Amino acid sequence: MIYLDAAATSPVRREVLEAMWPYLTGEFGNPSSHHAVGESAARALADARAGVASWLGCRASEITFTSGGTEADNLAIKGIALANPRGRHIVTTPIEHEAVLESVDYLVRMHGFSVTFVPVGRDGLIAASDFAAALRPDTTLASVMLANNEVGTVQPIAELAALAHEHGIPLHTDAVQAAGWLPLDVHTLGVDALSVSGHKIGAPKGVGALYMRGRIPVEPLIHGGGQERGRRSGTENVAGAVALAAAARLAAEGLPERVEAATAARDTFVAAVLQEVPDASLTGHATSRLPGTASFVFPGTNGESVLLELERRGVVSSSGSACAAGSEDASHVLLALGYPEDLARTAVRFSWGPEVTPAQLAAVAPAVGDAVRAIASLGQ
Ligand code: PLP
Repeated sequence: MIYLDAAATSPVRREVLEAMWPYLTGEFGNPSSHHAVGESAARALADARAGVASWLGCRASEITFTSGGTEADNLAIKGIALANPRGRHIVTTPIEHEAVLESVDYLVRMHGFSVTFVPVGRDGLIAASDFAAALRPDTTLASVMLANNEVGTVQPIAELAALAHEHGIPLHTDAVQAAGWLPLDVHTLGVDALSVSGHKIGAPKGVGALYMRGRIPVEPLIHGGGQERGRRSGTENVAGAVALAAAARLAAEGLPERVEAATAARDTFVAAVLQEVPDASLTGHATSRLPGTASFVFPGTNGESVLLELERRGVVSSSGSACAAGSEDASHVLLALGYPEDLARTAVRFSWGPEVTPAQLAAVAPAVGDAVRAIASLGQ
């Protein structure tokens, strides 16, 4: 079996498991406890925070550990928007993850916010001029994902952040899918808040982090004992934080070489799939895209059926984001990119992590061709 659904989740890496193991067993303390067991946990948590901060190029005090990417997005959007007295207007895009879209929707329904969705082109990119035109004097927050989870398009975040800052508006970016593939230095990106999730980079599910710049005001969503500087109460997931820091270290190691190799393997794979299935097309931007994602539409098929055929041939992939799986709706991302609904339903996404070799990836293209031909011959 070859697992090509890394954008949904990835296995915990051995080094990460080894780093977190002591904090699930002997060093099990509560960081708030005033005894040696608790103090040891507090030190591990502080080291993990420093590790994640060094990955993101920020101060340790600017990192809030969360239960994952969804919570980080919720805290950034609801927390920053509700604490910002400028007004009640959000700027975002229609291709964000549900964690962002639903948080914005909550602000609209429950707090009288309005929202402007910046349109995206067929390649998934938003134009800086459209973004600038959406900003208003009462805009409290802009949120634009760094890389899209379905089509892999990478946005020009530094340029957008500079535009937002011209108007004094903070910019949040969801970097959950970019993590492990793109450098995430928050100063180079120029962002005020950035979300990451552990399970996309070899840490377990259920841990993530939110960077928030300096003293940016934020309204907590989870109230209680005041942990995480009052921004996120609840006894800290020490082992999870240690795991995230260990995975972050691995994500930063040898990044340029990894990206170069993955980009070459991806381009070979894309060319081979397009040769196997001449009427298929790659979705997303041709070059401004993640090295580990390639998503296609296969006209005349049904994405879910192609997935099943692929699985019978030992290839595990996805018809879009796992979070939308189970729903019969066509991908909101492809619809926003302008794909007609019937074509959007033919999408299949392949995504991989560093453990997949170029040779393994190359071997998948003929299976894709076989699967699509099998579906076409059934007239599905
Ligand atoms: N944002 C993006 C872009 C994602 O792809 C995902 C997960 O697929 C999330 C947020 C949610 O992260 P988590 O699964 O850690 O809640």
